[in-house]
Amino acid sequence: LSLVNRQRAWVEIDLKALAHNVRQIKQIISPATELMAVVKADAYGHGAVTVAQTALAHGASVLAIATLAEGIELRQAGINAPILILGAINTAEEIKAVAAWQLEPTICNPQQALIFAETLARSQKNLAVHLKLDTGMSRLGTNWQSATEFVRLVQQLPYLSIASIYSHLATADELDPTIMKLQQQRFQSAISQLKLNHLTPPCLHLANSAATLSDRSLDYDLVRVGLALYGLYPASHLQSTVALKPVLQLKAKITQVKQIAAGTGVSYGHHFVADQDLTIAVVGIGYADGVPRHLSNRLKAIVRGQLVRQIGTITMDQLMLDVSDLPNLQPGEIVTLIGKDGDFVISADDWANTLNTISWEILCGFKHRLPRVNI
Ligand code: PLP
Repeated sequence: LSLVNRQRAWVEIDLKALAHNVRQIKQIISPATELMAVVKADAYGHGAVTVAQTALAHGASVLAIATLAEGIELRQAGINAPILILGAINTAEEIKAVAAWQLEPTICNPQQALIFAETLARSQKNLAVHLKLDTGMSRLGTNWQSATEFVRLVQQLPYLSIASIYSHLATADELDPTIMKLQQQRFQSAISQLKLNHLTPPCLHLANSAATLSDRSLDYDLVRVGLALYGLYPASHLQSTVALKPVLQLKAKITQVKQIAAGTGVSYGHHFVADQDLTIAVVGIGYADGVPRHLSNRLKAIVRGQLVRQIGTITMDQLMLDVSDLPNLQPGEIVTLIGKDGDFVISADDWANTLNTISWEILCGFKHRLPRVNI
C-alpha cells in the first residue's frame, strides 16, 4: 500500500495538526458552544472519514456535509455523530434515503417542508431537521422576515422535529464587519420574533471559520467550522487569533533529470525557452491531480530544502522544474509543492494568491487520483 500511495504523487494529511486545530478552536469558542466540523467535499480534499473521526475524537461533536452521498459515506464508515446536510434535499427518494441513514437535512422553505412531511408520513418515520434562514447570503433559506410563519408551519407538521435554526454569513472574512453585523441583527430579530410567539428554537448557529476566529458574539449554540480545521485562515487579518497548523501537504516524485541547452523550449507550446544551459527535473504530477494549469511558469516547489521554479506548461500528469542549482539530483527524490521542507513553506494561500482565488478552491481541487497518506 505504501508503495502505491507514494509511487508518484500524493497528499499527506497530518492528523496531529488537525487535532491541534480542533483543540485550538474549542479553546477560543464559548464553553457552551459546540463545534461542528464541516467535512463536505471530502473534507476540503483531506479525506472525509479520517478527518471526521479525528475531529470528533478531539472536541467536535457534530458534522456537516453538503450532499446525501457525503453523508452516506460517513455513516458507512461507522460514524454515529449527528450529520447535518447543508445542501438542499428535495425529492421523496432523497428524503427516504436521508431518513434511512439518519442524516439531518436542511429545510429551506415551507414547500420543501410539506414534501418532507408527506414523504415521512408514508413511511411513518421521524426526522430531525434544521431550518435555514436567509439573512443576507441570498443562497438557500427562507427570508428572515418570514421566519415565524416558516417555523410555525414546520412545528405543526408531523414526523418533523426542529433540531436547529441557522443562517450563513456572506462577508465574515472581510475587514469591514458591517454586513456581517447586519446579518446578525436580522438573525437576532427573527429569533426574538420566534420567542415572542413561543416558538423557542432548540439550537441556533450562524458562524463559519471567519466568524469563529473574529467575534465571540456569533458563537450561539454551535459554530460550523471548515477551513480553520484544515489549518488555513479565511483572511490574513484573522491570523493573529489562534495558531493553526496546515494539515495538508502535496508531494510528488522526480521521475527524470536531464540537461537542456540554452535555446531549448520546454513543454507544450514552448512557453518556456531556456536562456542558458539548465538541468531540469520531470515530476509526476499535473493538472489531472489538481495542480492548476494556470500556474504554469508561476509555480514554485521545494526540493532538498531549496526553492526551485517550475518551467513550461503544466501537463496532465507531469510538470518540469529548473533544478540547475541542485547537483546530482536523482529520480525518486521528493518534491514538495504545498508544505514545508527545510526553511521554505509553500501554502495553499500562495497558490490562491497567484491564481486570484481562495484557498478553499485550491484544497477542494485535489483529485481522488492523489492518494491521501495520513501521517
Ligand atoms: N456553513 C455553511 C452553510 C457553509 O456552506 C460552509 C462552507 O462553505 C461553512 C459553514 C464552513 O465555512 P468555512 O470553511 O469558511 O469555515
